Amino acid sequence: MMTLGEMSKVSECSVTDCSYNQADACHAGAVTISGPAGHAGCATFIPLTIKGGFDEAAGAVGACQHVECAHNADLECGAPAIQVGLSGDTKADCLTFAAA
Ligand code: SF4
Repeated sequence: MMTLGEMSKVSECSVTDCSYNQADACHAGAVTISGPAGHAGCATFIPLTIKGGFDEAAGAVGACQHVECAHNADLECGAPAIQVGLSGDTKADCLTFAAA
């Protein structure tokens, strides 16, 4: 089991129309990575007309449902950090996904 102190960081997010994104950084306290198998989308993405989240650019991965990713352990992300951007059909994707 991993500990909370080992939570993976969101080192960069290029999805600038997300309300949690400011200057290519995620300001959500914790994001959830979800979506269909093989397509890791950020379920926290929300394109509102306001910006939100914490002042610190300290977004982390609170949960990841992609057990088929090589970085996933016990439904948590074991990568030191992830990058989020556009790579497919969803509005925001985990670009660090690696097929196990
Ligand atoms: S790198 Fe893998 S385990 Fe980590 S958030 Fe992305 S899809 Fe989930």
